[in-house]
Amino acid sequence: MHTLIEHPCVQHKLAILRDVETGHKRFRELATEITQFLCYEALQNIPTEAVVVKTPVAEARARKIATDLVVVPILRAGVGMLDGILELVPNARVGFVGLFRDEETKEPMTYYEKFPPQIKGGTCFVIDPMVATGGSTVAAIDLLKKNGAEEIVVICIVTCPEGLARVEKDHPDVAVYTAAIDEKLDERKYIVPGLGDAGDRLFGTPH
Ligand code: URA
Repeated sequence: MHTLIEHPCVQHKLAILRDVETGHKRFRELATEITQFLCYEALQNIPTEAVVVKTPVAEARARKIATDLVVVPILRAGVGMLDGILELVPNARVGFVGLFRDEETKEPMTYYEKFPPQIKGGTCFVIDPMVATGGSTVAAIDLLKKNGAEEIVVICIVTCPEGLARVEKDHPDVAVYTAAIDEKLDERKYIVPGLGDAGDRLFGTPH
């Protein structure tokens, strides 16, 4: 279950984000801007409830968000998408997942997890700019489900067929929103053409 956001504003920003000449400051700004567009779409189906508010003129029937929202960045690159989503839903709570790859088993291992209790009964948004093999995304969703989460949505900027297939196979109930489904993974498990190492480009660390 995935949605590709092809809006020209998103695709224009993504073109600049991919460009090797784009420096870390602009990269961070663009990641935030693209995340806002992706989240706007991803939030479309969250539960709302009818409310009545008093305008200066009369009573108005209106709707308000009626679910707890929990944003879960996968460390470290996911942090680069946090400001974007929090600008849309400032009341959201934030959980964190830190994973590293076990060099023997090649499986993601958790080194940090911290979730607000509202993951149970609320809607969780796992954010990570790149869903490459899908291993970290699946591990984060596994952790959330183990801790009681039921409604989970993944938001990424770039993915590829391998990553999407892995998430959709292991978690067919989880919707994925992305700005790009690229061609493939290379031998280092980088997305081709992708945008390089998202964490390094966001935070200005050498690659
Ligand atoms: N993580 C990245 O930052 N980039 C890729 O291409 C794949 C995984």
